[in-house]
Amino acid sequence: MRISRIVIAALAAHLIPVVAWAAFKPVRVLAPELLGLHCANSGVCVDDVQRLVEAERLRRDAVAFVSSKVGKIDHLPRTIFCSTMACSKAFGFTSNGGYNVGTFGTAISYRGWKPYFVRHELIHHLQNERLGTLNAWLLKPKWWTEGMAYSLSEDPRSPLAQPLQGWRDAFEQWRVSIGEKNIWLAAQSLNEYQDGGTLKPSLVNHAGDQAAH
Ligand SMILES: [Zn+2]
Repeated sequence: MRISRIVIAALAAHLIPVVAWAAFKPVRVLAPELLGLHCANSGVCVDDVQRLVEAERLRRDAVAFVSSKVGKIDHLPRTIFCSTMACSKAFGFTSNGGYNVGTFGTAISYRGWKPYFVRHELIHHLQNERLGTLNAWLLKPKWWTEGMAYSLSEDPRSPLAQPLQGWRDAFEQWRVSIGEKNIWLAAQSLNEYQDGGTLKPSLVNHAGDQAAH
């Protein structure tokens, strides 16, 4: 069977980083106790127990915000809050504020203790719940997944660094264009490869200190 250009491009663009990434981060997010973190019954884990109440409040507020403004979250992810650079490094952070491991867990770096960062990551979690992690990550355009997270988290930074601002603008224009249609239904027709198999430049991962994901 002939392997299409699309599949080869997808492999090159995604699977190699996936393998490298899969080698360490998920294990740590799934078993943070192994790194000495304290995990409360709420599903919030911290490296500094003095900040547990603050972390739990940040997540509780973000869950309420996302559930009412974006969509109901079915299963809360275990949420790790790192207070220190050392903890953040152990979870693979560089300059970003947070990331998700599928629908299993969310990690917030020492830079990410802000309501809009936690909301941003929970929106990605919701995308993974509603669309499936692989579908959301591989097939949905970055302007949609990231633009939605930056827009609907009500990230106060304006303008964001490019390409993040462009993605937020594109999502907000798309949202106007679909009218009253449900955003999850309208998103079903979006596909990163819909233009005939040419990889779009938006596949390039974003980085920098403004990035939450
Ligand atoms: Zn993001």
